[in-house]
Amino acid sequence: MDEVEDWIRHGAEMRRPLLAHFELKNHQHITIVGGGLSGLCAAYRIADRFPERQVVLIEKSSRLGGVIETWHKGEWICDLAVNASRPHPSMWRLVEDLGLQEAWKASSDKAKSRWILMNGVKHKLSPLSLLKIGPFSLRKAIKNSRKGGASVSQVIPHRAIADAMTLGIVNDTSENVDADFLFPGLTKFGSDAPLKKRKLSAKIDSTYPIFLPKKGSITSLDGGMGALVDALQEQLESMSNVEILLNTVADSPTSVAETFKVPLSSIIWTAPGLLEHQNTNWISIFAVGFHQNDVKDVPFGYGVLIPDDSIPFSGVLHESDVHHSKRTPDDHRLFRIMVPHGRWDMEDQSIQQALSVYFGNAKPVIFENIGTRGIPQFKPGHMARVAKSRYDFTYLGWSVSGVSITHVVDEAERLVELMEC
Ligand SMILES: Cc1cc2nc3c(=O)[nH]c(=O)nc-3n(C[C@H](O)[C@H](O)[C@H](O)COP(=O)(O)OP(=O)(O)OC[C@H]3O[C@@H](n4cnc5c(N)ncnc54)[C@H](O)[C@@H]3O)c2cc1C
Repeated sequence: MDEVEDWIRHGAEMRRPLLAHFELKNHQHITIVGGGLSGLCAAYRIADRFPERQVVLIEKSSRLGGVIETWHKGEWICDLAVNASRPHPSMWRLVEDLGLQEAWKASSDKAKSRWILMNGVKHKLSPLSLLKIGPFSLRKAIKNSRKGGASVSQVIPHRAIADAMTLGIVNDTSENVDADFLFPGLTKFGSDAPLKKRKLSAKIDSTYPIFLPKKGSITSLDGGMGALVDALQEQLESMSNVEILLNTVADSPTSVAETFKVPLSSIIWTAPGLLEHQNTNWISIFAVGFHQNDVKDVPFGYGVLIPDDSIPFSGVLHESDVHHSKRTPDDHRLFRIMVPHGRWDMEDQSIQQALSVYFGNAKPVIFENIGTRGIPQFKPGHMARVAKSRYDFTYLGWSVSGVSITHVVDEAERLVELMEC
């Protein structure tokens, strides 16, 4: 594939480094560590493209999916982690290849509004919010960020808006988040596209299977993102060249090489926790449901972000407003509450009490702590460090590729295309 074709297939992902070992393509036996979306996609793409090669997938827990999981209780359905995807053709290709096209639907057009809660007042986020920063300051900050290694707070010099953006994506405050990792297109990290932006976008648009998503829209799966993991697992289990080992902890790439008697260069590591400079932020997730009459004052929309850390939750997502498919019993609404552990005394009651900040006096009909998730930290300079790193194995996953599912899904495709060369 030439450079133009690569950019048409992968778009701005081409700015991100791909930490693939050059000898991986020579191996007949490939060992993948981590059964999250990265490990599942890498296993599926490699085993499908090279049926003569053996793939072993090692996962430390008793289930596949990593952070992705969908919680069910009666008719209530709530994702613990990712609930939807932004547009990227690699995600659409994966959904089509897994035969999930019927269940892949654009989220509601009516639920686009996002708010930010500042000093107890809700403000709608829109391109006009950027006027609060001032176009001149914004342009200057973006230009300065192109030197590399800037934090998001340096690129978006309005503390509350910058924090709202990073809280919504990585549940961290903006001074702690690498702008190159979050917005490489904005900071011009990596190499530029060989085509003009508009021409490239038009060409990328023409490659979407299933349907062309609207710019800025999101798309989700009927029944939640757990369905994506189930479909990948089903495919892998049907492939005779794939072996899945659950409840198997890999201490390090070297220990995997020793235990399985394989060369280091045949290992693909996709699990977070390998980078010394990278810690984890922990959050708990609550599913909170109301009768719709009790929350009629809460406008229909995508959700609210809360930079004010005196409130124990950083965001409320309007789950049942957003998705095309049903997430509640009739006449009810479901909200997902994100609770960073740094803000919380670990008592469920504190969250219940704080609900009034957003829901007034409405009493929930369902209130459940549905789980805890770790999110890798992406400190300023992270992407530059990753790009310079050299390993004796292949390193994929959201620790190094990007925070969203589109990054890890696309990364697996890029890896296989490199192995074809
Ligand atoms: C709360 C939350 C909300 C999110 N929302 C969105 C969203 O709306 N949109 C979006 O695009 N993305 C979202 N994401 C991000 C998205 O979920 C991730 O990008 C993606 O799922 C990461 O997959 P992964 O396989 O790289 O990592 P993980 O899911 O972390 O998987 C790593 C796997 O490795 C296993 N493992 C770890 N250590 C070892 C070891 N030593 N040996 C063997 N196995 C090991 C783990 O058990 C796990 O299964 C969200 C994430 C979270 C947590």
